[in-house]
Amino acid sequence: MAHPLEALLALQEKDRKIAKLQREIRDIPARKADIDKQLEGAKTRLAAAREDLKKVTADLKQLEVEVGSLRDKITKYKQQQMEAKNNEQYRAFLQEIATAEKAISGLEDREMVLMEKAEAVKAVITERETELKSEEDGVSEEKEMLNERLQEVQEDLGAMLADRGRITSNVNPSLLSKYERLFKNKGDFAVVQVEANHCSGCHMRLPPQVTNDALNPDKLVICNFCGRMLINLR
Ligand SMILES: [Zn+2]
Repeated sequence: MAHPLEALLALQEKDRKIAKLQREIRDIPARKADIDKQLEGAKTRLAAAREDLKKVTADLKQLEVEVGSLRDKITKYKQQQMEAKNNEQYRAFLQEIATAEKAISGLEDREMVLMEKAEAVKAVITERETELKSEEDGVSEEKEMLNERLQEVQEDLGAMLADRGRITSNVNPSLLSKYERLFKNKGDFAVVQVEANHCSGCHMRLPPQVTNDALNPDKLVICNFCGRMLINLR
């Protein structure tokens, strides 16, 4: 007569595979969220670079306005200079013009710096656009793969649950419910074998009586140390 726990060992093997598939199904949304997060990061980096360019462009425009207004002033000074009533006035306008031209030259230096900065930022934007594009391509590919995997896992799970049903139909219901409670509590094994006089669940050395009883198909033997069901298939 086969030991009744042998059927449970087969069931347990199936249940461990089922639990693994269920974990994988549970983890897939988190993996998708990670992928989305990575994509969001690339979007944020591109937006930041575009924001930088906007700022540099605005600064450049502001400088152009300032230069324009100084040039207007110079034109005005030159007209007034021609209408100067004396040398002193004439020289005063000359001085004003020189000051304005110096200011323009300073502004133009700053403009050069900003234009170089704008070029650098544009290069960064191009780089980040490429990065985002590749992230987007990667994302749809990775999600596609995850969806395929999900479908595969769900099919495997369905088949395993059907197998499980076939196995459990041959197990005594009260033993089955004991096993199920224990499997859930332990999270790994409910039924373990005696191996070289030790419980292979908790690795404690078992008394000879227990080792012997675990051979007997009429006895349900529980490990005193970990509470798992023991079977001795020696
Ligand atoms: Zn044990």
